Amino acid sequence: MKIKNTLLIFLLFASTIALLLRPLINFQGSFSPAAELNSGVLDVSTLDLDQVIYQLTGDIEIYPNTFIPMRGFNAEDIKYGAMPFTWKVSSGVTHASYRLNITGLTPGKLYGFHLMDALTAYDFYVNGEKIASLGVPSTEPQLTISEAKVKTAFFRPDTNTAEVVIHVSTNSSHLMGIWQKTLFGSASLIHQYEVASKRSDAFMIGAIFFMTLYLWILFFIMREDKAVLYFALACTFVTVKSLFAGHQLGFELYSFVNYDMGLRIAYLMIPGIAVSFMKFASECFRPLVTSRYEWFFYLASVIQAFLILLLPQRWYQETFIVYQLLIFVSAAMILFWALKGIWLHIEGAIIYTLGYIVFFVVAINDILYSMLLIKTGYYLSMGLFVLILSQAAVLAMRLHRALRTEAYLKLNMEQLVISRTQELESEKNKFENLSKVDSLTHLFNKGYLMETLQIELEGYKRYNGALSILMIDLDLFKIVNDTYGHMIGDEVLKKVSEVLIEHSRRSDIVGRFGGEEFLIILRFTSLEDAIRHAEQLRKQVEAIEFSFPAGGFGITASFGVAAVHDGILDEKQLIHEADEALYQAKENGRNRVVSSKEINR
Ligand code: GH3
Ligand code: MG
Ligand code: MG
Repeated sequence: MKIKNTLLIFLLFASTIALLLRPLINFQGSFSPAAELNSGVLDVSTLDLDQVIYQLTGDIEIYPNTFIPMRGFNAEDIKYGAMPFTWKVSSGVTHASYRLNITGLTPGKLYGFHLMDALTAYDFYVNGEKIASLGVPSTEPQLTISEAKVKTAFFRPDTNTAEVVIHVSTNSSHLMGIWQKTLFGSASLIHQYEVASKRSDAFMIGAIFFMTLYLWILFFIMREDKAVLYFALACTFVTVKSLFAGHQLGFELYSFVNYDMGLRIAYLMIPGIAVSFMKFASECFRPLVTSRYEWFFYLASVIQAFLILLLPQRWYQETFIVYQLLIFVSAAMILFWALKGIWLHIEGAIIYTLGYIVFFVVAINDILYSMLLIKTGYYLSMGLFVLILSQAAVLAMRLHRALRTEAYLKLNMEQLVISRTQELESEKNKFENLSKVDSLTHLFNKGYLMETLQIELEGYKRYNGALSILMIDLDLFKIVNDTYGHMIGDEVLKKVSEVLIEHSRRSDIVGRFGGEEFLIILRFTSLEDAIRHAEQLRKQVEAIEFSFPAGGFGITASFGVAAVHDGILDEKQLIHEADEALYQAKENGRNRVVSSKEINR
């Protein structure tokens, strides 16, 4: 691998690690070892609350489908649930109460909770006093108004114990997750933690925002590369979405945005991001892209966007679960293209793939975490950032190549002027050849080949000699054109022509049959000899090393071999047989020789 690629991969991973460490760097205290509740009681006397924030684990009291009194409730039989704890609305529970008792507190000291942003509604009481709430909880699901926001709640106990009661309900969500990650600690540390994580959100949004700006400027300067446009769009959507996700700084910045509107904006960005990423990928891996799925996905995304705009929150969130599956399939599709791209040495495919693999691991982590199968945490926004970074690297490589190619073409232009002059000089000579020579490769052209083949066939009939032809088609040549440009494609054709001539006998007639197809007429050659010769040529083509300022690569070709036999009446029939063999060679995986006798008829 080239040093350039190694460096980019290193940068990618260094920044990933820096990102993962970021919250720790910002936050002064140490962070969230577990503090365990025993039968609903948290004893804080053994905790180091001046230095550490604790994540609550252990057993919490649970009362499904009732809102218990805010204080001093006496239950006949107490049920416990182990934290991190969630329940499914589909299990018939629409609201619930939780209770935990804290002992070992210092009277008069200020304590705090940090509650994560599960989509829900709750009232949070300590010793009968409401210290936090989210949305509007209700015993009636229809009357509940759910929200998803990070909250902090502070209290100052009069005694050394405190009773915490929470009423929770939902109208839409599938998992009631407020106990997935609850932090407890001294008020100053909890506050510090909140500020630090808001700051890190702002850092992330700022970083993407500046990248977005840069991309838009880049796009307006050089409009040829659509990949820049799609990438700029994706980053724009990610920026807007980040404003209303996580700590939702957008709500603080833009007070005219109410919760419902903010949530719709955030959701609306997701189809936008997904479509832009897909477009970007198909721009980078164009010849490998299966367009039918692409269009299906775009259609689904437009439909989902309309649903978000038109339906009430709880309904568009239901449909969103299906759409999320589609996103997952699309990401897998893109990963598949990228892997194929690595196989075919398409520029940037390795970095692209790495970015997607990180994203996938993170996505799977988040799914497992939300199902409570693992205890890691949510990392999707981080994964997204890594993905964006890897795609930025691919984009940089694309642009780099474009600039190099432009310089190369300029150089080529000068050479072109020189060769044009020479061409004019030999105009007379060329005029003679015009009717039988192909101007790009200087091989015989199709007209001449057909004429000659007809004459040779007549000779064959008269003398009953042997006559074979090779039909040659370069493999995946479109990719060469798409990756390196048409000019370089032409250079490849010239070079391959030279190699074919160099390794042919003087009696062979080598011609360009069309585009990137060649035909070689082998006089006095049996099918077996022709196959052997084809195999040699195949190896010679495979061995060519192309190196241009824009990069180095190799190419292969597929060969169809046919020999005249009694069933052959004219040159068209012979070519048809060679064509069929060539088609079979492509079918069998390219870069190989197939002869007409191997074709089942
Ligand atoms: P495969 O044959 O292995 O199935 O794949 P391919 O990508 O080579 O597909 P196909 O033979 O159908 O495509 C031929 C491509 O060759 C299409 C065109 O972009 C390119 N091509 C044809 N003539 C020229 C030419 O004169 N110059 C250049 N640069 N490209 C050409
Ligand atoms: Mg072709
Ligand atoms: Mg081809």
